[in-house]
Amino acid sequence: MTPYNIIDRYLFLPLGDVVYGSRVAASLKEMQHTATFSAEELRRLQDSKLQRLVKHSYDTVPYYHRLFDRLKLKPEDIHSCDELHLLPVLTKQTIRDNYADLFSTAVSPKRWRKSSTGGSTGTPLQFCTDNVEWSSWKASTLRAWEWYGLHLGDKIFSLGGSSINKRKAVTSFKGLYDLVIMRNHKYSSSDVTDECMQRNYQALMKLRPSAIRGYGSSLYILARYIQTHNLPLCPIKAVLTTGEVLMAEYRRTLEEVFNAPVYDAYGASDGGILSHECPCHSGLHITEESCIIEITDLQGNPLPDGTVGHVCTTDLDNFVFPFLRYHVGDMAYLKTEPCACGRPSRLIGEVMGRAGKLMYNKQGVPISPTILPMMFYPNLDYHNREYQKRYYKIDRFQIRQDKQGDILILLKLKDPSEPHEQFNYIIDNYRNHFVGSEVTLRFVDEIPTLPSGKEDYCVSEYDYQA
Ligand SMILES: [Zn+2]
Repeated sequence: MTPYNIIDRYLFLPLGDVVYGSRVAASLKEMQHTATFSAEELRRLQDSKLQRLVKHSYDTVPYYHRLFDRLKLKPEDIHSCDELHLLPVLTKQTIRDNYADLFSTAVSPKRWRKSSTGGSTGTPLQFCTDNVEWSSWKASTLRAWEWYGLHLGDKIFSLGGSSINKRKAVTSFKGLYDLVIMRNHKYSSSDVTDECMQRNYQALMKLRPSAIRGYGSSLYILARYIQTHNLPLCPIKAVLTTGEVLMAEYRRTLEEVFNAPVYDAYGASDGGILSHECPCHSGLHITEESCIIEITDLQGNPLPDGTVGHVCTTDLDNFVFPFLRYHVGDMAYLKTEPCACGRPSRLIGEVMGRAGKLMYNKQGVPISPTILPMMFYPNLDYHNREYQKRYYKIDRFQIRQDKQGDILILLKLKDPSEPHEQFNYIIDNYRNHFVGSEVTLRFVDEIPTLPSGKEDYCVSEYDYQA
């Protein structure tokens, strides 16, 4: 560890917590302690957190109070993970329909951290968390980084979209927190032209980070650029991928080009899921201290380990806007065996949804799937409040690329009587990126689902051949 690592961990991080009202340092200490638990002890910790959450939800959240009464359930009826299945699943549609009634009346609005999924799963969802949850997330990530020989204070080169790389002004506290404490240097993955890759490469070489982090597809495009131009690289300890399914070919290329192990992570801020690969690379360790993960069928019936089903999560840290048995919208399975590394948490074997499949423009330039939802904001500016309002008029969307490379955008509006012309900017955004492709915008009443039953926002049949 360098002196900066030590100062960051024991001075800057606790100081940041005081200024920010967070508890990352405390949460990290707790997680380092619970990492020594047996699987049985972890389970007992989950059960006790669950009991508190269920009682709190019944007592202070109108939606859950009504639900329990309707089902003739008392909070005491759910005293462990084994009884969770007595509750129905919470869907995104249920959240939309009951949004105001899902806030706890016992938590002051001052503690709210309003958040949104930003539409990367095809349907934007608004929800709320607080600093406790946020601290847990940070702590879980920092604990995993320690598995990889990384420490708080090591420089990270981060390449991604808004879900992992929300840009903050350097002069703001959050901006300073990112730069000084997390040392997370953020670069946008929205532009994948050669000029932009050259700029990213130069920034990387100037920064000389310990690790590179980002969407697998974005890092893959950068790696291919470095490989094609035979560019020299500084030593990298680890490549950290997140935000989408990591394709095997991406992993292989990243390992080869950056000459470092790749560690994947899977998370969903709606539902409080966070899971990380360990050095055994045999799956993703669930942060069991923060969430209970079940794999269920569409109706919410638990499926045996090893079976692919819907990811269903109960967020043990969110007391502001509780998620009890929430269907995230991803398909995955749990490993039947514990990990060879000896860590007590269960493993997600593979996440099958949110594939990072690439679309191409007619010149063969791949368009990262992570930018596709951004194009539903005028000027791709998702920070602009006015533009956000326009974005939220959209209920669902799907982008389809046919065999010829042409683009069809299906748009379902929340209110079908909205004038269609106000969405013409979407066509321009797509034309600018899919140069040479025909772009058609079609307003529909329903978005088709895939044969798997998953609602994917991006469907491509186009294979670019040079
Ligand atoms: Zn492991």
